[in-house]
Amino acid sequence: MLIKKKPIYEYMWIVSSLYLILGFFNILFAWLGLICFLVPLIISLAGGEKAYCNKYCGRGQLLDFLGNKLKFSRNKSIPKFLRSKWFRYGFLSFFLTMFSLMLFNTYMVLQGERNLRKAITLLWTWRLPWNFVNTSMVSPWIAQFAFGFFSLMLTSTILGIITMLLYKPRSWCVYCPMGTMTQSICKVKNK
Ligand code: SF4
Repeated sequence: MLIKKKPIYEYMWIVSSLYLILGFFNILFAWLGLICFLVPLIISLAGGEKAYCNKYCGRGQLLDFLGNKLKFSRNKSIPKFLRSKWFRYGFLSFFLTMFSLMLFNTYMVLQGERNLRKAITLLWTWRLPWNFVNTSMVSPWIAQFAFGFFSLMLTSTILGIITMLLYKPRSWCVYCPMGTMTQSICKVKNK
């Protein structure tokens, strides 16, 4: 019997999981997450397509794996309001505001106006002290960005997992800020 090999990009969920695990051992690995920010934007700007979401997104695949393969999802329909334009664009605006604040914080550390804060903030609310990491090998602003960025990545993963558990496996994709941005770019480009 012929066994069909899966294309390599179908294993991106392993890369996403590794990213989260590595961040716990060394916060500086958080910088690698920029790839997940830039690649989808570049793909949609260059080709006007959502190829990243459809094929390469490790987070989408991970949610699919947890929800469909491991059956952690209740598989219920997502509430209408989460699909609405106002919610998706509202959440995108909120996300971008938080991202800008994180960049501003990094800038303040770079300028020496603030000290490095070794903490991870979950869901923009709960600060977990993260003092066990040694970041002395890099400038404080490099470490500050890593803490801020990893906080964002963990927060969005937690939201993704909560919506996966409550609704369909990939419900996060309905209001994922990156998905909303690439969708908007594609719409404009394909007009
Ligand atoms: S919507 Fe977000 S999480 Fe879903 S596949 Fe696209 S980039 Fe990944």
